[in-house]
Amino acid sequence: MNLDVNTLLALMLANVFAMALALPVVMGWRVSASARYVLASAVAQALAWGCLLLAKPVHDRVFSTLWIGLLGASFVMMWQALRGWLGPRPGRTLILVTAVLTPIGYGLGFGSYAFRVGWSNFGLALQMTMVCAACAWPAPQTSRRWRGLIIACLGGLAAVTLTRGVLGAFFTELYPTLRTPHPINVMGAVLNHIALTLTTIGLLVGWHEEAENDLRRQADTDGLTGLLNRRAWLMRASARFNLARRDGDSIAVLLLDIDHFKRINDQFGHEAGDRALQVVARTLRDCARRSDLVCRYGGEEFCLLLTGVEDASARDVDTRLRAALRQQAAAGAGLGIDFSSGLALLCDGDADLQSLLRRADAALYQAKHAGRGRLMRCDDMVRCLPHGALKASLYEGSTT
Ligand code: GH3
Ligand code: MG
Ligand code: MG
Repeated sequence: MNLDVNTLLALMLANVFAMALALPVVMGWRVSASARYVLASAVAQALAWGCLLLAKPVHDRVFSTLWIGLLGASFVMMWQALRGWLGPRPGRTLILVTAVLTPIGYGLGFGSYAFRVGWSNFGLALQMTMVCAACAWPAPQTSRRWRGLIIACLGGLAAVTLTRGVLGAFFTELYPTLRTPHPINVMGAVLNHIALTLTTIGLLVGWHEEAENDLRRQADTDGLTGLLNRRAWLMRASARFNLARRDGDSIAVLLLDIDHFKRINDQFGHEAGDRALQVVARTLRDCARRSDLVCRYGGEEFCLLLTGVEDASARDVDTRLRAALRQQAAAGAGLGIDFSSGLALLCDGDADLQSLLRRADAALYQAKHAGRGRLMRCDDMVRCLPHGALKASLYEGSTT
């Protein structure tokens, strides 16, 4: 097989230009910041290879330097996209500095062939390695497959680029110029082709995962308050319930219902009611510990799953919430907001989360009937009786 390097480079150019045109069409413009970095990275790649094409006929030094600079820019943008998807990772300064210094050194040292080939290939190999490192750096709850694909492609390309740099810098007589049909050039061009295509596929899968995670987050979140919604809470709380039962840990459910919420809507309007619900949600989020699960259970009902709490500490949570809410509501919504609450602690007879919720609900019902603005808790002695026997077995936990 006789592969001509110039033809391969022309194909590469066609490929990256097609990619830079097709990506915005399939992805659209109204995408996340990370996705925009992917688009910008594809455009930079296309411009880079376009500059290489113009180097010989127009101005070798200027367009070759632009080629190196734009390739670096495309790797920096890939790195930024990964940072957006995978969270903070080390090496940002290093890749930025390398991307700036590589074309500067290349342009200034253009007169020395050995220097410019060594310098530019070392710089580009380092940038590709940094993109691989960004993929490899731990990122919980993200797929390893697309990250692995990018690591394999850019890692391979970095190895070939580094070899080129070593040959060009230290074995200059042996090293063929980029366009000569030497096996390393043919291999480099073919690998470049495959690596760029597969890296783009990897980035598209990363983008798809981002969209999926966003959808999941939206499906799990209450639109008004930003808290978990009931469905998502039930799923997570059930998992925690099962763990707590297995390990013998203490957990509790605290169910809250805003008192006379209809009056707020009636007197101040629905929007003021919405704002009041947001204040309640914010207060719950601020007061809850990281390990607690908070959700908007229904209209003006909220629910907390408290982990590692006993009776006294669960009551403390309620007292803290009540005080904070009064303060926040007065300051934030300019309204007086109080709530009634029902507490149920896990006991041996609780077969599932629903049993705990039923008892918390029964306690809440009693709190309303006892005059509102208070916490009630199911009686420990009889709390494991069947559901129907609960009504008479409540006692008042705290009053305001
Ligand atoms: P109490 O619980 O003390 O018995 O009285 P209440 O007035 O809070 O009771 P009820 O459950 O009858 O009324 C709840 C009200 O909450 C009715 C509904 O209009 C209002 N509500 C539910 N969801 C929203 C919402 O998203 N925004 C607003 N503004 N109001 C809501
Ligand atoms: Mg209600
Ligand atoms: Mg209410």
